[in-house]
Amino acid sequence: MRDLLHFFPRAYEDRTRVLGVSELQEGVKATIALRTLSSRKVPTRGFGKNMFEVRATDDSGVVTLKWFYLPRGMDMKFVAGAQFLATGTPKTYRGNLEIIHPEISWGKSADLSKPSTGANAPAGATAADPAATDPLNAGRVVPIYTEIEGLPSRTLRKILWDAFAKFRTTLTEDIPNRFLAKHGLPKISDAVFDIHFPKSAADNDQAIADLIAFRTPSAARLIYDEFFKFEFLVLRQRLQMEKENALSIGLNGGRQAVEAVEKDLPFKLTGDQKRAIDEILADLAAPHPMNRLVQGDVGSGKTAVALLSAVAALAEGYQVALMAPTEILAEQHFRNASKLFGTKLSIALLTGRTSKSEYEALLGRLAAGQPTLVIGTHALIEDPVVFKSLALVMIDEQHRFGVEQRRILREKGVHRSGESGKLVNPHFIVLSATPIPRTLALTAYGDLAVSLIREMPPGRSPVATKVVRGAGRTGAIERVRAELRAGRQAYFIYPLVEESEAEGFQSLRAATVEAERLQKEVFPEFKIGLLHGKMKPDEKNAVMEDFKQNRVQILVSTTVVEVGVDVPNATVICVDHAERFGLSQLHQLRGRVGRGSFASFCFFFTGTSGSEATRARLEVLEETTDGFEIAEADLRIRGPGEFLGTRQAGGLPFKLADLVRDREWLLVARDDAMELLKSDPDLRLPEHAPLRAYFEREGKLQGDRLKTS
Ligand code: ADP
Ligand code: MG
Repeated sequence: MRDLLHFFPRAYEDRTRVLGVSELQEGVKATIALRTLSSRKVPTRGFGKNMFEVRATDDSGVVTLKWFYLPRGMDMKFVAGAQFLATGTPKTYRGNLEIIHPEISWGKSADLSKPSTGANAPAGATAADPAATDPLNAGRVVPIYTEIEGLPSRTLRKILWDAFAKFRTTLTEDIPNRFLAKHGLPKISDAVFDIHFPKSAADNDQAIADLIAFRTPSAARLIYDEFFKFEFLVLRQRLQMEKENALSIGLNGGRQAVEAVEKDLPFKLTGDQKRAIDEILADLAAPHPMNRLVQGDVGSGKTAVALLSAVAALAEGYQVALMAPTEILAEQHFRNASKLFGTKLSIALLTGRTSKSEYEALLGRLAAGQPTLVIGTHALIEDPVVFKSLALVMIDEQHRFGVEQRRILREKGVHRSGESGKLVNPHFIVLSATPIPRTLALTAYGDLAVSLIREMPPGRSPVATKVVRGAGRTGAIERVRAELRAGRQAYFIYPLVEESEAEGFQSLRAATVEAERLQKEVFPEFKIGLLHGKMKPDEKNAVMEDFKQNRVQILVSTTVVEVGVDVPNATVICVDHAERFGLSQLHQLRGRVGRGSFASFCFFFTGTSGSEATRARLEVLEETTDGFEIAEADLRIRGPGEFLGTRQAGGLPFKLADLVRDREWLLVARDDAMELLKSDPDLRLPEHAPLRAYFEREGKLQGDRLKTS
């Protein structure tokens, strides 16, 4: 029942004003008080079903109400003269005003007889004079619920009302009083009641606006509640992890080894790269597991940071694993590492393509404890892969992996210490080029320390970006030609939409067909390569290699090149159907160019039918190349799904709180949660007993990370 009471409205609707029919505006939802004139069933052709129509009036006009089915029991009620309130969105059909599937309230509330405020009190306000009352659904601001199992909001309102009468006392307070007092927030039982049955605030527009925007003290209270509890757990887990054991790395020559390799780099590290490496080395040296996110925009040079970090562990005789989401990327990292380390350090590649004999030899080396950096794909998390001394686990493009996959790899590094008999955890680094907005970093990623790389390697010029509709393509194509003639290379991207097989095939065909067309009709003088996800790994690699070596000048591809691919000579990218992507993903694609010292260009093509909103959304990309700003915009427009989404199993547990709308409360709640953790981490004080009871009830207090027996 507590659960039911916590089924919060998703929105509110202002029904404090009853309009007259003559005041209705097409497309604007409204409530009207009506008197039935007539009703009838209308047989529909072909469907063998009846429609149902009611004509009703309030003396200022006539309106037709329509149902495309026979609403149960309704036909009996709409007898001539019967009075009711109807809420819905009117439209004009063949010169008549009609409302499809209105919500009906029989009778009226006391509020209804009051003329609505404002200059022109509607004639209809007092026309109907229903005898009964319907205080839950009319004459007030009513909550709108997400329909569950076909239960409409009005039914839920009734169920909730009854539930309240019975179960209100189960809503016991669990947030410590001092925090509520500090922010002037109401008690839980009042807040929950108020969120479902807000006081009818008919004569105060501001109060109604606040209610609708979830800005009332009651809403704030519930939002705070969710954030506070969530942050408490997140921060607690982080503190707990800081207490777990891990190997101290870097004090026995590891640090010097890193410095030596750094000297051999073909470039000078940026300040941010240096700082990230310092932060990592400091964490590695501590006897507790590092849990760190290296977050840097595309092209900021995260790979170098990862590889240098690996050196510290390798030099001291430990094993390191680096997992990447695609073979192309794993191989690219492997080549970079080979260049960097030469034969000084042992490096291995483990993907689906690794031959059986190589695979077995490698497994043998890993099990024997040979210090090796293994770079690989998902192949790394398969059962037979066993490490003897895996001390550092790194995951590139971490948002491409599920929580579970990351956990499995990490657990391969958990072992029992021979000396102390204690469990020892590996250090853990995730790399992400999808910038994580701050609000998400504090929540979904709240247990990670963050190293930010905001500074780009020197000599990069921002990618000039243009959103191109329809005919503008010609200009873009000429730009591409100019680049190619100057010796540069180009990408053409056609989306492979993941959700739908059918669409996937279509875009696959699009890429294939386009590759042919570009070759024959547009760029006959250049060589074109085609890359898509359905190709065999060998073929993919051959094409990638051709592109890298500039044997093909144009790479036509689906979004498989989205992550990580690094070909500095490519300076122009065209993305077709850009409107299908989130901004962050487009930003990733754009990041394939602008990697060398040449000026670079990016064209986002959209269909001519693209809406203004689509265009406005894409224009964010024209205005900024700051991945963080783009991510914030994406979060605002598309919500956190884009960042947690299908790839990031498990979303956020908020029912009412909204990361974008309520970000101020998130920060406040986080500070409070931290304060509580510092003063009473295990909630032993009597004033924290209710909160402790809450967490225990929810099974949240066991520190359920790394359950390795
Ligand atoms: P990302 O952060 O997107 O993974 P990469 O690690 O692929 O970026 O680096 C992008 C390119 O920048 C690579 O070609 C890499 O060699 C180069 N690079 C990295 N760090 C520097 C630096 N400090 N100076 C110059 N080039 C660098
Ligand atoms: Mg990368």
